[in-house]
Amino acid sequence: MACMYELRYFDNAATTVMSESSLRTYQEVASAYIGNPSALHQKGLEAKAYLQQNRARVASLLQIGEGQLIFTSGATEANAIVLESLIWRQQKGHVILSAIEHPSVSEFARLLKHLGWSVSFLNAPGGFIRCEDLQKALTKQTRLVSLMLVNNVVGSIQDIRSLVRTVREFEKQAGGRHIHFHTDATQALGKIRFSLSELGVDSAAFSAHKFHGPRGVGMLYNANPALENLSRAGDQEGGLRGGTENLAGIAAMTTALEEAYASLDRNLGQVGEINAYLRERLGSFTILSPSQSCSPYILNLSVKPLPSEVFTRMLYDRGFCVSSGSACSNNAKQKGEGVLTAMHYHSELAKSSLRLSFSNDTTLSDAEALADAIISLYQEHA
Ligand code: PMP
Repeated sequence: MACMYELRYFDNAATTVMSESSLRTYQEVASAYIGNPSALHQKGLEAKAYLQQNRARVASLLQIGEGQLIFTSGATEANAIVLESLIWRQQKGHVILSAIEHPSVSEFARLLKHLGWSVSFLNAPGGFIRCEDLQKALTKQTRLVSLMLVNNVVGSIQDIRSLVRTVREFEKQAGGRHIHFHTDATQALGKIRFSLSELGVDSAAFSAHKFHGPRGVGMLYNANPALENLSRAGDQEGGLRGGTENLAGIAAMTTALEEAYASLDRNLGQVGEINAYLRERLGSFTILSPSQSCSPYILNLSVKPLPSEVFTRMLYDRGFCVSSGSACSNNAKQKGEGVLTAMHYHSELAKSSLRLSFSNDTTLSDAEALADAIISLYQEHA
């Protein structure tokens, strides 16, 4: 049955609407640049030059070297390039992941274990990975640490700088630099301020559609010259990501990122106001997103005792799109529930969690309508 209400979209952590200028860029570039950037004729050279121009623009925003920027099909692929690089290693070692990672990182644990690697998962009490837990988990065999910058279920912002420092101090004592530090920064780019060089990570993953760019395009920042791709299918992107580049998508992502950077302060203010309003209006519910060091773009709360799936369905019937978990999979083990348990939330709270996520297009009046709907549905059904 079609929804009787006007749809109001609160699932921007899953994906955002492409901005008008990003969409326009996509259309213009798709028709103007017809050549393959690897081709040696005029049209190929034009496409290659334009690709490099986009690389320079993005690298300048991220304040990184152009050679450190690899265009990918999204964060899933960027994460995979880093995790799969371990498969080339002759000697199996040890990997540290957090137990609140997105499945595009955490699901590699199965493959790595199958191949003889050992994997440690760090919990994140209240949403935060602790340096002391990381310190205890590090061993002389540790080769990779992958900890996300902004969690996609509750929005907690990790202190990556201190976590990197913990790894570097361990390395100093262990007598050498052997550990690659990767961060999945998909929910951070264009939404919170951070500097890759200040964080000190070796690599980071991003997806364009989280900041009003197109789906199916993303990036890997990589500062580790020793990183090798599992697939050596093509020479594109410095050999780290073979395959014909999605030039129109990359250009549309560049436009969206430039827009996001230009309006970062204004957007943070506007989204921050909406977040604060909802925290206040929904204050009688248990809020699972931390009150400090949290992205304003995500607000997770529990509607205990009502199950998430039932509540999100009822909200949908009233015209609201929200998510019950991380929204990336319908498979129970991959949903936000496991992540919330790793944050030490009681399973009853986890089973009834709602994730509201905002964008620059979210209005206060939409937030008011959402709060009214949540409160009235809860009163009717709980
Ligand atoms: N990491 C995080 C934290 C995410 O939120 C997402 C998207 N849900 C991804 C990785 C994967 O991004 P994509 O689907 O664009 O590859």
